[in-house]
Amino acid sequence: MAHKDEVTRVLAACDACGSIYAARQWPDGTVRIIGQEGCSCGEGTFEVVTDPETDPPADAGAE
Ligand SMILES: [Zn+2]
Repeated sequence: MAHKDEVTRVLAACDACGSIYAARQWPDGTVRIIGQEGCSCGEGTFEVVTDPETDPPADAGAE
């Protein structure tokens, strides 16, 4: 595992419209997109869609 106390670079999807943003995830689970306070649609809740520290690249799959 990586350093538990460090912020992780992730991709996050807006819960409301599904837009994908580069984001940071804190060890406590907080997700904040980079460069903006929230999605352009007005929502501020994001769900992590990738974790580069644990998930392989998409092109590593069989398909
Ligand atoms: Zn949105």
